[in-house]
Amino acid sequence: MIQTEIDLTHHITELMKCLGMNLDNDIFRNTPRNIARSLIYDFTAPNASQGSYTWHGSDMLTILNCEHTTRCVCHLERVFMQSSLAYIPDGRALHKGDFQGSCDVMSTGAHTIEYITHSLADITMHNPTPKGCMVITQAMHSCSSKPRLSIVSAVRGAFGTEATLREEFLTLWSKSR
Ligand SMILES: [Zn+2]
Repeated sequence: MIQTEIDLTHHITELMKCLGMNLDNDIFRNTPRNIARSLIYDFTAPNASQGSYTWHGSDMLTILNCEHTTRCVCHLERVFMQSSLAYIPDGRALHKGDFQGSCDVMSTGAHTIEYITHSLADITMHNPTPKGCMVITQAMHSCSSKPRLSIVSAVRGAFGTEATLREEFLTLWSKSR
């Protein structure tokens, strides 16, 4: 075990004892280590998954439903997200792996959905330099007693000034869900 895992396992064991859990019970034998590994994974390793990349009749390009996870800032519980991107390229098209990579990097650790969504829009505007973009992230929070879905969007450039672009993307995005 790496030192971080040893340290975390120790702290989580203490935390479980504080909560009155009987750690002599064999069913909890691996629980502190499992929680430690899960936390370490979400705070260090980009988690891989895939999205789809599509041309449309207009100048708009989309990359839909890239899956990624973060931890909520209130409880450090897992938050499952799907982010979709539309942009008007200026020269080079983004590879779907570019956006997936940005999703994984930006969501590593604990962040709000708003921060991740706006960061994805900012990154897209610099890679290389599209005329505009829109990012929609839907997130499933598991930390409250009742799981809830939230949807956040961020617009830049032409998507901020032209409602027709936003409508076109929202229609495509709705159909893809
Ligand atoms: Zn929370």
